[in-house]
Amino acid sequence: MKLILLGAPGAGKGTQAEILSKKLGIPTISTGNILREAIKNQTETGLKAKAFMDNGQLVPDDVIIGIVEERLAQPDCAEGYILDGMPRTIPQAEALEARGIHFDAVVSIEILDEVIEGRMTGRRVCTGCGASYHITAHPPKTENVCDVCGGALSIRKDDAPETVKSRLQVFHAETEPLKDFYAKLGLLKLIEGNQPIDSATQDILKALGM
Ligand code: AMP
Repeated sequence: MKLILLGAPGAGKGTQAEILSKKLGIPTISTGNILREAIKNQTETGLKAKAFMDNGQLVPDDVIIGIVEERLAQPDCAEGYILDGMPRTIPQAEALEARGIHFDAVVSIEILDEVIEGRMTGRRVCTGCGASYHITAHPPKTENVCDVCGGALSIRKDDAPETVKSRLQVFHAETEPLKDFYAKLGLLKLIEGNQPIDSATQDILKALGM
């Protein structure tokens, strides 16, 4: 199973990707998590990406395509994977197609900007493994501690209200056209994002025929 999760920042892609990854037994590839890790480790890619990310802009396509190509070549991707946060532009989607990488389904998690803006203040991310939480909708068992790896949770710099606004603008301009791209390929499934996490998961599984 090769799956893409589309949706605005804060729609719940990361949370659903983690749940689906466990249920389906395939890895999640999150370009955002890979980039945050690269920044933490001060790699060349991290240095290139940091300013774009801090400003809520997209990292250039060639950087993203390079990262994803390398990651998909790893043996754990042989049976399939879930892409979370990639592709985010038409050229990224075309690059995947051009490399003969085709998908079984593209799930778009639909949610209004107003709801997103309210949600983002409660979002927390693990500094160790990148797992995502929300202080009310998806709290960790112990406050500020990751359930998965015990790492400390932090607020993402790009979740500041002003940055969220520019990320939403970028989403509508650059990423939303992908819905049409994948609808034409007959792959698009629309899911309501403004509902409890497990209901959204059920809707996704139903849309995948599971
Ligand atoms: P995310 O964790 O998916 O919200 O990604 C955080 C940030 O990383 C985004 O706002 C972008 O700056 C960058 N990023 C992640 N994935 C991509 C992508 N596929 N294309 C361009 N930039 C990306």
